[in-house]
Parts: sequence; structure tokens; C-alpha cells
Amino acid sequence: MVDMFDVIVIGAGHAGCEAATAAARRGARVALLSFDRANLGQMSCNPSIGGVGKGHLVRELDVFDGLMARAADRAAIHRRMLNRSKGPAVWGPRVQADRSVYASAIREMVGQSGVRLIEGEATDLVFASDRLRGVKLSDGTILNAHALVIATGTFLSARLFIGEQTLVGGRTGEKSAHALSARLREIGLGQGRLKTGTPPRLDGRTIDWARLESQHSDADHWSMSFLSLPNDNPQLSCAVTRTNEHTHEVIRSAKSRSPLYSGAIGGRGPRYCPSIEDKVQRFGDRHSHQIFLEPESLTNHAVYPNGVSTSLPIEIQRKFLRTIEGLERVQISKPGYAVEYEFVDPRRLDSTLSVKGLKGLFLAGQINGTTGYEEAAGQGLVAGLNAAAVGCDLAPVLFDRTSSYIGVMIDDLTLQGVSEPYRMMTARSEYRLALRADNATTRLGTTAIDAACISVERRKLIERHLTSRASPTWSDTPEGAADALYAPYLDRQKREWEQVQSDRKLPIPLGFAYRAVPGLSGEMVERLASASPDNLEQASRIPGITPAALSALNVALVRAAA
Ligand SMILES: Cc1cc2nc3c(=O)[nH]c(=O)nc-3n(C[C@H](O)[C@H](O)[C@H](O)COP(=O)(O)OP(=O)(O)OC[C@H]3O[C@@H](n4cnc5c(N)ncnc54)[C@H](O)[C@@H]3O)c2cc1C
Repeated sequence: MVDMFDVIVIGAGHAGCEAATAAARRGARVALLSFDRANLGQMSCNPSIGGVGKGHLVRELDVFDGLMARAADRAAIHRRMLNRSKGPAVWGPRVQADRSVYASAIREMVGQSGVRLIEGEATDLVFASDRLRGVKLSDGTILNAHALVIATGTFLSARLFIGEQTLVGGRTGEKSAHALSARLREIGLGQGRLKTGTPPRLDGRTIDWARLESQHSDADHWSMSFLSLPNDNPQLSCAVTRTNEHTHEVIRSAKSRSPLYSGAIGGRGPRYCPSIEDKVQRFGDRHSHQIFLEPESLTNHAVYPNGVSTSLPIEIQRKFLRTIEGLERVQISKPGYAVEYEFVDPRRLDSTLSVKGLKGLFLAGQINGTTGYEEAAGQGLVAGLNAAAVGCDLAPVLFDRTSSYIGVMIDDLTLQGVSEPYRMMTARSEYRLALRADNATTRLGTTAIDAACISVERRKLIERHLTSRASPTWSDTPEGAADALYAPYLDRQKREWEQVQSDRKLPIPLGFAYRAVPGLSGEMVERLASASPDNLEQASRIPGITPAALSALNVALVRAAA
């Protein structure tokens, strides 16, 4: 069988579903290829969408009619606006979603998009006269296309670990993509290995909820999408508990059985989502770590214990959990595990996420060294819009770091690369006071209209919104009030950033005490101290050093020199 498409997307995870539907919204004929259609839009780990920085990405994606915000609104069973005690620029909308409702919302939207869903394994890329022509499946089928998006997530040469047990697979019970991985290496897309992990799932009926502090859903039912109304789902409460010395003792005594410490796993993991064995090891002086018990569903009893990702043997997982208040009788419904997989250096990509020198080949999502559904979905949008540009001869759609977190992410990935899984944080943007979750439509509405990838309803809404900004009552709206609040600071932020640019050659004395710089996080201190840059310019080239860190460092250097 030979089929012809404008765009083929490999992988129906968060990046792949957004890429395929974004390309289709621009008018492309699209095929979405995945191992198993039943796993479309699956949340591999935490049952939540959004958060600080991540929620900003979801709101930006929504302006382009992306799927994630609307699916999250349909499936929300707990809403929380994080950071509410701070200014609105860093508020982080986050919803906990019913896993199966979320996946069926994505399935339904992909089904309605005109995208053709094909079940199968992509094993090879097909080239003709040095130009990409399509993809070959394990059963010999060839699918032809003008553009191809690879969004294979954690599946490239992936291995799973639970204690001493090692399995092949990108997620528990699923395959690994070996042949495609080998082919990518062969065409020079050099790969490294990263890892991530997930906690055990608990049976909520065996948790003693009455003894634990509850955390209720927000009373005001805000929505993720500009188009959604809040759903009628009952809103569930979470609970908070903590590990203790006894828990840590159990974990320490089983350290040699952890694949993280036996040398079985070599890849680096996400800094902001470490396993519980890593936390106990790295923060030996801490007597306890917080755990949020998050219900995953309205129809079953699965609970996600946020904070105890682990790959220890299952009997150790049970043993340490039962030392924790409220979990003394807990039953595990699925064990936690770690996954190690290959990724491609994102510096091989241009700002459309196309591989430099290989026209028509795009990469999006965890394959580019990121972690998180939202980061994957944001890249899916960029790759899908631009694959359609190649496939249908349209204008590219570019995202700028001055106007979006999507632009910040693309810039960081393609210019700096990654040394560990990349996660979005507001500190990554030098313009963070201007890039708020509540003003995504203002920032990106015109780009979305120009990209011609949105519904009539969305277009009208954007036009109405942009017009209303000129009205005398604008300052009475929440967005208008936030604009007024930040106006004086935006100027200062701009000047501070210009100062960093003009001070790029400012020398950093040898042995400079980074730890004493106000506002530098532990991560930034660690990165700067180990690279020991000669000046600010060199510091700016250290992977992972954020604009916020450079500003703080600049202020401290100027003070020290005065
Ligand atoms: C165990 C685990 C724990 C995680 N923990 C966290 C966490 O704590 N925090 C966090 O933010 N993120 C976590 N993640 C990461 C999160 O799941 C990903 O960031 C996100 O799902 C990536 O989306 P994606 O679209 O890039 O890939 P995925 O969601 O992985 O989707 C990839 C898709 O590609 C398909 N596929 C792969 N190869 C082929 C092929 N050759 N042919 C056809 N189809 C193929 C797969 O079937 C799948 O549908 C975890 C992931 C896993 C697996």
C-alpha cells in the first residue's frame, strides 16, 4: 500500500496529537501514526495539566485552537490557581484531570479534525535523492508525505526499571521504538539518554483520608480554555501527607537495589521531579518530604501520590509507603518505575523545529530532551503548523521569546540544547512580567489569525478581545487591571535586561561567591560554580542559566565592583 499525505506525524502522545491537528487546521492532509490507537493522548504520569510556566504554555496553545486546554476543562476534577498569593504574572492555572475523560476528549477532537489515524510502528524513514519522502512501517507499508513530524516521546530505545528487573518499553506494557531509533542515529541525529520515573498508583479505599489535611478545589470555576465553560464534574479534594525518618531509613537501606544507584540507569533525570530515592540521598538533612495524594478519576479509586516517584522493588515501595501517615494500610494498584530513553540534541533544529539541512523533517516533544505534557504539546503546535507550511506551501509560523513562553522554549532548546530534561519555568523568560497566563490572547491572537489555523468562533473572540482593549472600561477587567499593575515594572524589567546585554563583558572574579547573590536558586549556583565563567557573556552560554539568574548576577557584580 502506498499513501500520499501532506504531513505524517509519528506518535499520538501530547506532541503528536497537537502537531497532527494543527497541521490539519491549516488545511493539510494528515496521517497520525501510532503503536496503539487506544493510547491516544495518554497521560503517562501525573494526572494534571498546567502549573506555573506550564499553565502559561497551555493558555498560549489554546489561542491557536490547540486541544490541551479544552480537554483539560472537560476532564477537570480539581482546579487550583497556583501562586495566587503572588502577582498575576506568575499565577499558574493547574487542573487535575480524570485520566480516561481526558484521553477520550483528545480522541474525540482528533477524530473530528479530519486527521487519518493509522495503527502501526514506524521503523524507517524513506528518502529519494536526499529529500525526505515518507515513512516505512514494520509491516512493509510505505506512507508518503511532503513533511514528517517525529513525536515518539519516551519510546526511542527505551528500557523500564523496577528494582533489579529491566524491561523493554517506553511505558509499562508497551513497546520500545528500536528500529526508528537506530535509523535516526544512522542519519546523524546523534542521541543521548535521559530518564524519568513515575510513582506507584494507590488504591484510594485503603488510604485513611480522615487523618490527613485536605486540599479543596478552587471555589471559583475558572477554565483553561478561553472557549470552555467550567464543566459540571464533581470537584474532588486532595490530601497532603509527608515522609518521615522511618520512610527514609527504609529507602536508604534498599539503596543498592535501586537501578539509579546500582549503575543500571545512566541517563539524567528531571531536576524538578526527582525520585524519592534521589531526594533522600541528595537532601540528607531533610527529615521529611511533602506528598500530595491526588485522585485520578471519578469512576475508579486510583490515587497518584505526587512526590514519591520511584524505581525501587515493589516490596520496598509498599514498605516505605506504609511508614507514612494515612498510608499505613495502603495497597498499591500499579508499581512505580523508571524509564530511560534516547533523545535528539535539539540544537540540530531550527526555530520551526525542522532538522537543519533535512527539509521536511520535524521533531517535537520529549524526543527533543524536554519533560512534561505541556512542553510536548507546545512543541507539537509549532512543528505541526510548520510541517503544514512545508506540506502545503504556506508561510511558516514563528514564535518569539518576547511574546510567548512557546518562543522561550523553542529558543532555549534550539540555541542552548539540554543537559537534563527541560521543563518550563517562569524564570526562563526575561520578559516574564509581560507574559502572563491571562493575556495569551492579547499576545498571540494576531499570530493565530495570520496562521489561519483557528475556528470562526475563535477568530471572532480574538477580534472582540483585541478591540475591547481600546475601550475606556478595559482597566476594570482582570487583564486590564493586571496591565496597569505591571506597567511601571515592565519598563524597569526592560532596562534591567538591556543592562545585562550591555554588561556582557563584565568580568566575574575567580572564586566569586555565587551562593551570596540574592535571588539565585540552588540550581543556578551549582551550574555557575561548576562552569566558572570569566564574564556575563560566558555565563549566558551555560545551558540552563536563566535570564532571571543573569539579571541577579549582573546586579551583584556591579555592586561588588562599586
Ligand atoms: C514513566 C514516565 C514518567 C513520567 N514522569 C513525568 C513527570 O513526573 N513529570 C512530567 O512532566 N512528565 C513526566 N513524564 C513525561 C511525559 O509523559 C511526557 O513529557 C509526555 O508524555 C511527552 O509527550 P510526547 O508527545 O513527546 O510523547 P509520549 O506521550 O511519550 O507519546 C509518544 C507516542 O509515540 C508513539 N510511538 C513511539 N514510537 C513509535 C513508533 N516507532 N511508531 C509509532 N508510534 C510510536 C507511542 O505509542 C506514543 O503514543 C513521564 C513519562 C513516563 C513514561
